[in-house]
Amino acid sequence: MVKQTSLKHKLIVSPFLGEHWILRAGDARGVKIRPHRYLELQQATAQEETGLPDWLTGLARRLWEIDLTGRPAQETLLVREQSQLSYGRASYELNMGCNWDCPHCYLGLKEFTGLPWPKRQHLLHILRDAGVLWLQITGGEPTIDPHFAAVYSLAYDLGMMIEVLTNGSRLHNKIILGLLTERRPYKITLSVYGATQETYEKTTQRKGAWKSFRDGVDAAHRADLPLEFSIIVTRDNEHEVDAMHALAKSYGAKIREYNNMTPTYFGTASPLSTQSQTRQRERQVFTGCDAGHTSLHVDPHGKASVCKVARDHPIPLLEEGLDGLTKLGGIADKALLRQGGCTGCTLSSQCSTCMPLAQRYRQASAPLGAYCQHGKPERG
Ligand code: SF4
Ligand code: SF4
Repeated sequence: MVKQTSLKHKLIVSPFLGEHWILRAGDARGVKIRPHRYLELQQATAQEETGLPDWLTGLARRLWEIDLTGRPAQETLLVREQSQLSYGRASYELNMGCNWDCPHCYLGLKEFTGLPWPKRQHLLHILRDAGVLWLQITGGEPTIDPHFAAVYSLAYDLGMMIEVLTNGSRLHNKIILGLLTERRPYKITLSVYGATQETYEKTTQRKGAWKSFRDGVDAAHRADLPLEFSIIVTRDNEHEVDAMHALAKSYGAKIREYNNMTPTYFGTASPLSTQSQTRQRERQVFTGCDAGHTSLHVDPHGKASVCKVARDHPIPLLEEGLDGLTKLGGIADKALLRQGGCTGCTLSSQCSTCMPLAQRYRQASAPLGAYCQHGKPERG
């Protein structure tokens, strides 16, 4: 039986990119509120005996079907402070290590390195103070990191809405399942690499991977955790795409399909050799991106960057803190400016590859057709 969220707070009240929102941990649905409502709730939590206003108990009943009547505001709400920065979203790569060895992985070497716990605590407080409300916990495989449970719990208790990116292999572990059912994420995104044992283990290069995956997904499904399947299509599993969709549907999960392999984040070509030639898709035209301004990425060493791809000029968050982050917007603007081989490109308005990604393809000496309009057949 699923245990409902009932720990330190039931609702999060938070500024988010110039707005104010009420959210329920473990549920992606939220409500935008006016600034005076935010102040009203902030004041309500400042005094011990104050209850919740009627408009909020009514809202909670309608939207989340929970009854908060008679509950003290202090125990029910976690009101986040306004940040001097405006980073509403972040991804945190706990560790680049993984228990599987997929050749298509953009991390390449998959090193097992990460910060000790006290530094991670400090890092999470910096992210909270930077305004991060939506946190993606990723890896490598985050659930094999020794500090996964502690990081997850603290991020949750600081009032962050959490998504976990995982291969699913440890979701049936009692401690992890207990953690995720007690402090529910709003989303668990599961990578799917095949629909049969043979294909799955060929793609992940690990014997036993299929059983771990199925055990993990079954346990998460029984616990009614919010699953989304990311179907990763490579040359090794392209013949099972329909079966992978059917598998995801059998769990009632949302589905996304990824067909285009990219070089590693440090610009080596190895993942490109796993590209499915029949399933490669034309990307949408790149029209801009706000990474580095409203979102950021943090690597296992606590270095902040624009995103998972654009990692040049990283900011050591533990040393520089919020002051260091004020530089990230400028770093993003420079990173996204067309430069190098893209300088003055006459086709840039039709280009589907952002500048940081184009740089990785160039470093990897990828064929132009993989990322550049000048390599498309009709361009010559
Ligand atoms: S890869 Fe490119 S489009 Fe994606 S977040 Fe980074 S800069 Fe933006
Ligand atoms: S079309 Fe090619 S050269 Fe032009 S901006 Fe895109 S990647 Fe760069």
